[in-house]
Amino acid sequence: ATWTKDGGWADGRVSAYGPIQLMPSAAVLHYAQEIFEGMKAYRHADGSVWTFRPEANAARMQRSARRLALPELGEEDFVASLKALVEVDQAWVPEADGSEASLYLRPFMYASEAFLGVRPANVVTYSVIASPAGPYFSGGLKPVTLWISQHYARAGVGGTGSAKCGGNYASSLAGQLEGIENGCDQAVFLDSASQEYIEELGGMNLFFVTKDGQLVTPELTGSILEGITRSSILELAKDEGLEPVERRIPIQEWKDGVASGDILEIFACGTAAVVTPVGELRWEGGTAPAVGGAEGGEVTRSIRSRLLDIQYGRAEDSRGWLTRLA
Ligand code: PMP
Repeated sequence: ATWTKDGGWADGRVSAYGPIQLMPSAAVLHYAQEIFEGMKAYRHADGSVWTFRPEANAARMQRSARRLALPELGEEDFVASLKALVEVDQAWVPEADGSEASLYLRPFMYASEAFLGVRPANVVTYSVIASPAGPYFSGGLKPVTLWISQHYARAGVGGTGSAKCGGNYASSLAGQLEGIENGCDQAVFLDSASQEYIEELGGMNLFFVTKDGQLVTPELTGSILEGITRSSILELAKDEGLEPVERRIPIQEWKDGVASGDILEIFACGTAAVVTPVGELRWEGGTAPAVGGAEGGEVTRSIRSRLLDIQYGRAEDSRGWLTRLA
């Protein structure tokens, strides 16, 4: 669909996947006025196709739109766009064979106006593309090794960190590359002001299971993405007999907590990777050993299967988190 300042949203339709036309002066190519969402379509055993908490993605996209001075797309139109695409692409939603395969959905909105100049675009395009997806990490439940990004912050307070915009990911790449060069899978980003507190990974939120029965995650500071998996896990924590806690977590607490035994398990979460055990932590001149064992700890695995069971229709959706797409 296309939005114009004068006419609002128009021309919503499903078309074949292929190249798009943009002028070289399209604003998005120069000023990164762009936002997106990441979702999945899951096939249930009876063949029906569902998605998880789309109203939360719609709301987040509206918040991202406000931050990037893009037009808002209503929740109804957002969900309708997913339904329209999945209806046509039904055959691409993998079978419910227990393999955790799904159809990844990527709604995105960008400044398509041909205009060189820093002001909100008057012409904006919204699209959704889809792609069959297997597991995010190839190692299954093998814990990922993380690198503390000390030279590069991903986002700062007042910036765009809590919006899901392309620029945040561009900003995370150098830290991620540094991690990979040091033998790690992903980077952990710290707060930009003090470089002392844990924020998140480039594409996932973090959780810590503590000895005293708490499930702790960094509180939303304005520079962390409000993950929908994160908020779902905070709700599921009570079912696990754990106390959900959102607070600031110094990176030193991670290093000390695994050494003292106060931290029993660490995991990362997001739509793409669901719940992934975190192993060793590395930084320039040091490492903190892994906790939780070779396949993730008990809580990590339990929360992971609780979520997957709801998403794939194997457990009752008592919170009304699923919406039928086809
Ligand atoms: N943080 C960042 C930076 C992300 O890109 C994502 C993935 N959208 C997440 C956290 C997890 O968010 P969600 O659970 O909504 O996928």
